[in-house]
Amino acid sequence: MLEVHDLTVRFGGITALDGVGFGVAGGEMVGLIGPNGAGKTTLFNCLTRRYDPDAGSVTYEGTDLTTLPPHAIAGLGIARTFQNLGLFPRLSVRDNVLVGAHHRARAGFLSAGLRLPGVRREERELRADADAVLERLDLAGVAGHPATGLPFGTLKRVELARALIGRPRLLLLDEPVNGLNAAEVEEFAGTLGAIRDEYDLTVIVVEHHMGFVMGTCDRIVCLDFGRKIAEGPPEQVQRDPAVIEAYLGTA
Ligand code: ATP
Repeated sequence: MLEVHDLTVRFGGITALDGVGFGVAGGEMVGLIGPNGAGKTTLFNCLTRRYDPDAGSVTYEGTDLTTLPPHAIAGLGIARTFQNLGLFPRLSVRDNVLVGAHHRARAGFLSAGLRLPGVRREERELRADADAVLERLDLAGVAGHPATGLPFGTLKRVELARALIGRPRLLLLDEPVNGLNAAEVEEFAGTLGAIRDEYDLTVIVVEHHMGFVMGTCDRIVCLDFGRKIAEGPPEQVQRDPAVIEAYLGTA
């Protein structure tokens, strides 16, 4: 489904990604790990066209993403969540989710060359979709509540709902369990596993929580200083001396 080939990104003197390559098959859940500053978020930013790579390519179902305008990405069925929640505090939970829906619909219409008024005709359908996703993520009870003031674990689920409302096929999760307590991490892992099947998702997840990554992902890619230092099943990567050294060296 996704092929990252020889991806390189430089910021002045810093090489954030240095010739990184890996593939992701449809239906897989891949964990992207590595110490702080390893280049994980930069990689997500290349996949979503926030950054232009200096070299390399990202091919999604045969399309080179690096040649597309950023607004076309959501229209292709790629959605992401953010490390620091990108929610609008004063908007209700439902409206925060609908922002995601409009973003996807708008991107789809733009890439299809259609005029925006068509989006309005979809309004009722989008609201029904939003309510279904909110229900699924156990958020129906807070749908009308402003995002501000809700517990952090709830906000993390709102962020997930907002990504799901676009009905993505490839979901990019940036530190989804960061800041959650042990019980919330376990609950999130269960929800994600179920949702992955129900929505037929392919997932790439950036996460520092090793228990979560090792327990939920099919395969792990480890970056360090912008380079891929390991790739394989969780149990193999966990024992890899280069991975252990990368983490201990920065502890
Ligand atoms: P963390 O786990 O701390 O979120 P990360 O693996 O996601 O780290 P990145 O945020 O991708 O790492 O950063 C990789 C390197 O690129 C770091 O040295 C960072 O300072 C640098 N970097 C990232 N974005 C920019 C930017 N917009 N301008 C300059 N340097 C940047």
